[in-house]
Amino acid sequence: MEVLYSSTRNNEIQVTASKAILQGISKDGGLFVPSSIPTLEKSMKELSGMTYQEVAYEVMKLYLTDFTEEELKQCIERAYDSKFDTEIIAPLVSADGAYYLELFHGATIAFKDMALSILPHLMTTAAKKNNVTNEIVILTATSGDTGKAALAGFAGVEGTKIIVFYPKNGVSPIQEKQMVTQKGDNTYVVGIHGNFDDAQTGVKNIFADKVLEERMGEQGYQFSSANSINIGRLVPQIVYYIYAYARLLAEEEITEGEKINVVVPTGNFGNILAAFYAKNMGLPIDKLICASNDNKVLYDFFQTGVYDRNREFMLTSSPSMDILISSNLERLIYRVAGNDSGRTAQLMKALGGEGKYEVTADMKELLADFYGGYASEKETADMIKALYEKTGYVIDTHTAVAACVYEKYKEDKKDETKTVIASTASPFKFTRSVMDAIDEKYDSMSDFELVDELSALANVAVPEAIEEIKSAPVLHDHVCGNDEMQKTVEAFLKLK
Ligand SMILES: *Cc1c(COP(=O)(O)O)cnc(C)c1O
Repeated sequence: MEVLYSSTRNNEIQVTASKAILQGISKDGGLFVPSSIPTLEKSMKELSGMTYQEVAYEVMKLYLTDFTEEELKQCIERAYDSKFDTEIIAPLVSADGAYYLELFHGATIAFKDMALSILPHLMTTAAKKNNVTNEIVILTATSGDTGKAALAGFAGVEGTKIIVFYPKNGVSPIQEKQMVTQKGDNTYVVGIHGNFDDAQTGVKNIFADKVLEERMGEQGYQFSSANSINIGRLVPQIVYYIYAYARLLAEEEITEGEKINVVVPTGNFGNILAAFYAKNMGLPIDKLICASNDNKVLYDFFQTGVYDRNREFMLTSSPSMDILISSNLERLIYRVAGNDSGRTAQLMKALGGEGKYEVTADMKELLADFYGGYASEKETADMIKALYEKTGYVIDTHTAVAACVYEKYKEDKKDETKTVIASTASPFKFTRSVMDAIDEKYDSMSDFELVDELSALANVAVPEAIEEIKSAPVLHDHVCGNDEMQKTVEAFLKLK
C-alpha cells in the first residue's frame, strides 16, 4: 500500500516519501508524517533470523513505498557497511538488569550515524526519482554531534555538497577536531563568531531567501537539510528497535509477544518518536520512558500537559540533550490530536508566540504510553560511577541520564518488565565528563591522556574515530562573522 506524507499543519498537502525526503520540512513549517503507520508484515520470529540490513529493508520498505526494492536495498548496503566497527551494527549489552542498545558503532561514535549514514543515499536516490538534476547542497548548523555525523555521511557522495556551520567557541575540542579534519572535496566546515542559535538562525535565513534560491537553481544547485525532522532520518531509526527485539528473541532473553520497555535519552524527540512508531507498527513495547537532563521541558510536559519553553537554558554534561524546543514532538502532538492538522498548527503557533501550549485532557490521556523522567548533573555522574563499579561497564553521559531515569522509574512503578536502554554515544566521545564521574584524580589529565585511561579502565579499544583525529591534519580553517554566512556559502559554491 502506498504511504503518502502530509504536513502536521496542513492535511491537504500530500507528497511521496522521496519528495518528503528531498524537501525536509513542509512549506507551511509543518513536519511530514505518514498518512498511516504501517504494520509489520513479517513476524518477530522471522525477523529474529535476519541481519541488520535485512531488518532495515523489511521496515523501511513499508514507509518509503515509492522506492524500488533495488533502490532501497542499495541505499541500505551502502550505509550499513564497514563504516560500522561491528557487523551486528547495533549490539545489545546486558548490564545490571537492563539491555543497553549500543547505537554508537558508526563513523562518528554517536547514534546520529544510524540515520545519517543512510540519509545521503536516500536523498540522492530521491533526487534521481524526481528528475532533479541540480546538485544538492546540505546546509547544517551544529552544536557538535550532528555536524560531524552529517559530514561523514555526505563526504564523497556524488551529486551533493555539504556546508556545516558551528559556533567557533561553542563545541568541545574533540568535536571541533573531528569536524575540521573532515576529508572530502564536497565538504566545507566553517566556524562562526557567535553561538549555536546564531548559526541556526543564519542557516534558516539562507533557506528562506527566495532570491538566493532562484540564483542557485539557475546555476544548478538546490538546498536541502539533514536535520532530525527529515523523515529520511526518522524512518531508519525505527529499524533498530525492531532489530533489538528480534535479537532478544533470537537469544531467548524474551518470548515472542512479550512486552518490553524502552528508555531513551531525549533532546529533539526524534529517537523516542521512532520507538513510538515501532510500537504502533506492532512491536510489543509497553512503556516509552523519556529521559531528560536538567532541561526537563519534556518531563514537565508529560506531568502536566503543558509544554513551556520559557525557562533558563542549562548547559549540562549531556549537551546533545540541551534543547528547549523538541521539534519532533510535533509529530506526536499531531497523532494524539487525532491527526488534526488545524489543531496542531494552532498549538505550534502558540509555541512560536508565547513559547507554550497546553494539550486537552483527551490528548493527555493518549500520552499514557509515555513516562517522563529526568536526572540532575550529580545523579548522572553518580550513575556512571555506580554502574562502572558494579559491572565494569562504562556508559556516556547521555546514556547515563537514561539509566538513571530507568532506576527512578523502577522505584516509582515497581515494574520489572525487561527493558532496553538506548545507548546514544560512546563514552570516548565525552571522555572528560565520564572520567571525572568515575574518579576526581583524572581532573589534571589532558583529553587524549584520558582516552587511553578510559580504554584501560573499560577494557575497550580506542575507537577508530578517536585514533584518527589524534594525528589527522586540519583541512578546514574558515571562520566568519554570523552576518557573513550567506556570503561564505556563495563563495564556496562560486555563485555568480
Ligand atoms: C542527538 C542525541 C540525543 C538526542 O536524540 P533526539 O533524537 O534529539 O532526542 C541523545 N544522545 C546523543 C548522544 C545525541 O547525539
